[in-house]
Amino acid sequence: MLLNDLSYIPPNNEHDEPTQGDISKTSNELTQATCNEFEELYASANEKLYPGCDYVTRLDFMAKFTYFKVKGKLTDSIFNEMFEFFQNVFSISKGYKLPPSYYTINKTFKTIGLGYESIHACEHDYCLFRGDDNKYLDFCPVCNTSRWKDSNTPWKKVPKKVLRYFSIIPRLQRLYKSSHTTKEMIWHATGKCMEPGKMQHPVDGRAWKNIDTKYPDFAKEPRNVRLGLAADGFNPFGNLSQASACGR
Ligand SMILES: [Zn+2]
Repeated sequence: MLLNDLSYIPPNNEHDEPTQGDISKTSNELTQATCNEFEELYASANEKLYPGCDYVTRLDFMAKFTYFKVKGKLTDSIFNEMFEFFQNVFSISKGYKLPPSYYTINKTFKTIGLGYESIHACEHDYCLFRGDDNKYLDFCPVCNTSRWKDSNTPWKKVPKKVLRYFSIIPRLQRLYKSSHTTKEMIWHATGKCMEPGKMQHPVDGRAWKNIDTKYPDFAKEPRNVRLGLAADGFNPFGNLSQASACGR
């Protein structure tokens, strides 16, 4: 399984919202130590879940379980309890390699470069509760609505809206951290379609060739990354009776 299959941001999980700063920011610095850590983790994540298992890798398992957690709005504590139970039933001594806790799963994702920052937002999108001015505010400075779902709750408050932010550079760097994904990153230079008139990758298209002509220095390095924007099924003119398909 490719790591980029995991690059999703979990939707709102009101019961178990990570607070701002819970998940560490990914660093742009790519040290040898982190490379090694990544390689080790990559190898361990791609191990079989148990000897002879050909259905999922450990990483698939972790991704699927995180998906269930988010979809079912399970709290950390019930999730961990479940894992503890699984650990006893499918124990390491019997060859099973289940992750021990939600913390371990999160740590794995962070090291792999799938961490993100949660930033609380005004429910009407007027401001973000970040920076020295807004970080500790309970009400939006523009529309004065509460930041929290229930302002009177004495325990951990649940924000009304959360923005997930991740910097794209570490994610792109991640794709070059493993030989498996590096090969795919430069496929456009090695796997061009040889049949005239056919397009099997954006590299065969006019937009790509246009960039090649305009920026030859950029084009001659196949490791350079080009970002494209594609969307499907959204409605640009607000007419709900007509679903549009928009490309690029
Ligand atoms: Zn507001």
